Amino acid sequence: MLKSIHSLKELIYPNVCLSCGKTGAKICHDCSKYWLANPNKSKIENNYLFFVTTYDETTSSVILAAKESGNKDAVKLIARSITSSISFAILNLGISQPINLVTIPSQLSAIRRRGRDHIKDLAQEVISQLNQQNIYSIYSPLLKPIKKIKDQSDLNGSQRKENMSHAFIVKSSPISQSAVILIDDLVTTGASIHEGVRALGEAKITVDAVVTACAVGRNSLIR
Ligand SMILES: [Zn+2]
Repeated sequence: MLKSIHSLKELIYPNVCLSCGKTGAKICHDCSKYWLANPNKSKIENNYLFFVTTYDETTSSVILAAKESGNKDAVKLIARSITSSISFAILNLGISQPINLVTIPSQLSAIRRRGRDHIKDLAQEVISQLNQQNIYSIYSPLLKPIKKIKDQSDLNGSQRKENMSHAFIVKSSPISQSAVILIDDLVTTGASIHEGVRALGEAKITVDAVVTACAVGRNSLIR
């Protein structure tokens, strides 16, 4: 009886993949696999960058659903790819634990509009997934936005750099001798990462690795 009620519910409210629209799962197997692939290692300026997938039509809908709607399945999937990149980075670079996860902060206006702090929610999901793999990490939201950032979508690479220039400061006292991984959900031109690394460097904090869920093709990161 319960089973048939469940199937009836599924008929009335079918799960539709938020990425491709196929019915069956909120994010179908085909669309999930992009986020579950092996991590890539690249470079962003002087830092190593680890990421699983590239930014395209399929992956951008998952990024948007997590960021703008707080979709839990999307947040979990993105966190999974960040988690696998972090555990790969730890092995690859010999990073020691505990790890401070420093996030690229959202603009206050975006936090107000969404009614939640997306990058904080994402970092906390990553920390709990790392925990399950016995990797000890600490949420260290050290970066604070200090100027109003224009919407980046219509800006080119150098305009984005200008827009992000001196956009962050380190708000709390520096962390003790411990590894630092700078994370963001998406890296496009790398302007936010560049600014994050700069602001942390100003506070004498060295970034061991940069990790993102999703990066725009490697070539556009190298300017
Ligand atoms: Zn799909």
